Amino acid sequence: MNAEVLPRASCCIYCGASNATGYLKPLSTEHIVPLALNGDLILPDASCERCQKITGTTEQIVLRGHYRGLRIQQGWKHRKKNEQPTELPIFLPDPAGGRDIRRMVPLAEYPYVSFFFDLPTPGILIGILPEWEYGLKYRWLRLQATGVDPPVTSENLTTFSTPSLDLHSFCRMIAKIAHAFAAAKVGLHSFVPLLEPIILGNATNFYHFVGGFPGATEMPIADKPYEISLSRETCSGRTYLVAKIRLFANVPGSRAYQAVVGKIASSNEI
Ligand SMILES: [Zn+2]
Repeated sequence: MNAEVLPRASCCIYCGASNATGYLKPLSTEHIVPLALNGDLILPDASCERCQKITGTTEQIVLRGHYRGLRIQQGWKHRKKNEQPTELPIFLPDPAGGRDIRRMVPLAEYPYVSFFFDLPTPGILIGILPEWEYGLKYRWLRLQATGVDPPVTSENLTTFSTPSLDLHSFCRMIAKIAHAFAAAKVGLHSFVPLLEPIILGNATNFYHFVGGFPGATEMPIADKPYEISLSRETCSGRTYLVAKIRLFANVPGSRAYQAVVGKIASSNEI
């Protein structure tokens, strides 16, 4: 993997902390797409300690949750070699009806299921008002699960519980990747950011800014682990900077998502 190191940010891209604002600790390097997803875009001096902790915690929930099996199947390693487990837990229904039973399975036999959230278009791009309550009925959420691999044969297992699916953390991770990518590629001065409250856990209106491409046909398998790009979209006379992100782009059935990074003046060039 050849990392692309982008020009240093010299301030926290999430909260604005910098030497000039009195933040005296070193700023940490941001992996725009998490390293655990084979991300190779690096933005130096880009996060304060507090924001790093928040974004890191969110990513861990997703990467150790429903993405864990997929990452193992892809052979994507942990950052530190000694953190690489040799076996992982799966959870089996208790025949007696009690709590699920935890069973350790060797890595090579750990079953994975590809889960991809099928999300609606971000509300802001289709004229939905910010105060709209995205109740369950209007979330239009579907899950697509593809085959289990390897088949669940180890220890004569016939069934197992899937890892937890945390849609909120997933949306926050997509928002973070989108914001960091835009900050690195076009600079924070190019747009009025919209995603920081979601990224930092201060807002829960995910579906207004983060979504998918409902009705899109299945995308061809890419030869790289992720795809990311920026575009401009207009709705109700406003122009927005939008990041399109596809993780696991090399896995059949993987979806693309979009996050509305910020408002831009229509005369600005990207
Ligand atoms: Zn910060």
